[in-house]
Amino acid sequence: MINENHSYIEKEISAACEKHNINRSKINLVAVSKYNPVSSIIEAYEDGLIHFGESRAQELKDKAEQISLDIQWHFIGHLQTNKVKIVVENSDFIHSVDSIKLAAEIQKRAANIDKIQNIFIEVKTSGEDSKFGVSEFKDAYELADYCTEAKNIEVIGLMTMAPYTDDEKVIRNCFSTLRNLKDQLNKKNSSITELSMGMTNDFKIAIEEGATYLRIGSAIFGERNY
Ligand SMILES: *Cc1c(COP(=O)(O)O)cnc(C)c1O
Repeated sequence: MINENHSYIEKEISAACEKHNINRSKINLVAVSKYNPVSSIIEAYEDGLIHFGESRAQELKDKAEQISLDIQWHFIGHLQTNKVKIVVENSDFIHSVDSIKLAAEIQKRAANIDKIQNIFIEVKTSGEDSKFGVSEFKDAYELADYCTEAKNIEVIGLMTMAPYTDDEKVIRNCFSTLRNLKDQLNKKNSSITELSMGMTNDFKIAIEEGATYLRIGSAIFGERNY
C-alpha cells in the first residue's frame, strides 16, 4: 500500500510541477510517519523516501534509535523547551521554532553536542488559536535575527500550516503570506530559501505557492490510529 500511495503522490507532485513550470528537484517530500510503526518507515525508505517527519519527541527518539538507515529526520510538532535536548540529538531539521526562548535552548543543546541544527521558523498564517507560530512581522524578524546570530543554528526556512478547510482561497492565502514573509525577511538581513508547507489535504496549492518541503502523512501511510 505504501508504495502505491507513494507513486500516486509522486505523480501528483510531478504533474503540479510540470503545470506550473517548477523544477521537481526543488521540492522535498517529507513522509510524516507519526503514529506509524517502524516497519512502515522501513517500507517507505525502501521505496525511495528519505525524509521522515515526527511530531512527538520521544517517538522520534525511539524510532531514530531503532532504525539505522540513512534517513533525514524532521521534527514537525509543537516543541517545548524541556524536549529540546531529545529533539536536537535526534533530528536533522526542526520545523516548529516559534520563540526566542525555544531558539536559545536549541542553541544551547546543539552547542553541547557540537552540532549545527537546521531549523524552520513556524509562522501562524491562519489566525487560528489552535495553531502555533509567530504572527507579526516584527516577531518573525526578531526571531530570524536571533537565530542567524546563533552559532549552532542554521535558519533554512519558514513553516506554516493552513487551516483544515475546503476553501481554497483561505489555504492559498496562508501559503502566499508565508512566501511574502520570506521575501520581506530576505530584504532585511536573512537568507531564507525554503518553505515548509502543504500536507495531504493541500499540497498542490502549496506547490503552486512555492513550497520546497511538503509534509505528507496520511496520503502515504493511510489514516492514522491515534
Ligand atoms: C501530521 C502533520 C502533517 C501531515 O498531515 P497529513 O494530513 O497526514 O498529511 C504535516 N504537518 C504537521 C505539522 C503535522 O502535524
